[in-house]
Amino acid sequence: MQIKATYNSPNHYNGRKGYKPDMIVCHVTAGDTFKSTYWWFLNPKAQTGSHFVVDKNGDVYQFNKLTDGAWCNGTSLTVGNKRYYGSATNPIVKSRRTNANYYTYSIEFVDKDGSGITQAQIDSGIELIKYIIAENKKLYGVDIPIDRQHIVGHCEINPITKPLCPGKLFPWNKIMAGLVPQSQDDYIYRVQVGAFSNKNNAENLKAELNSKGYPAYIVSQKG
Ligand SMILES: [Zn+2]
Repeated sequence: MQIKATYNSPNHYNGRKGYKPDMIVCHVTAGDTFKSTYWWFLNPKAQTGSHFVVDKNGDVYQFNKLTDGAWCNGTSLTVGNKRYYGSATNPIVKSRRTNANYYTYSIEFVDKDGSGITQAQIDSGIELIKYIIAENKKLYGVDIPIDRQHIVGHCEINPITKPLCPGKLFPWNKIMAGLVPQSQDDYIYRVQVGAFSNKNNAENLKAELNSKGYPAYIVSQKG
């Protein structure tokens, strides 16, 4: 993974308020080129940033440290606020009464005219997501599951304010397929202890394992 240049956008929280990140959020820069995004993210008045920006040619730029919370997809605790966390369609965000910027990484894909991202951006995006997952493991000891509950679109966090980010053209299938292990060496091995059709039963077992110190988590899939 090559990062072309690193900048320091002022538009972030220092640190993550004790949260360990476990989610990667994809965005598109609707209306903006790399250059305009660059100036916007370095402008303190913008109050908007992102950990990474992927330009049309696939070049990757970093604007915030992984250990800081970029101001990219914040949620509000106030009922009635347009970014109220309870309005999220992503079940993890909806269940966490805090600001999503604390526990997310953000990637902006340059797509000025909304025509969709390029193959070079898809390839770089896949490498970048793999890089973030590996770095997150080193920094926080947390595995980010490769699924659409943990690798999400902005619209799944802020459906009212950002319904079109990253939009209908975003190539989720290609990106998720690129993240799936391709060779035997890349397989991950899961220790599974139960599968339930009733979510409460799963929650109960998870709570019991967590109380004993096991880092159990729930993965949902269609039965
Ligand atoms: Zn967005």
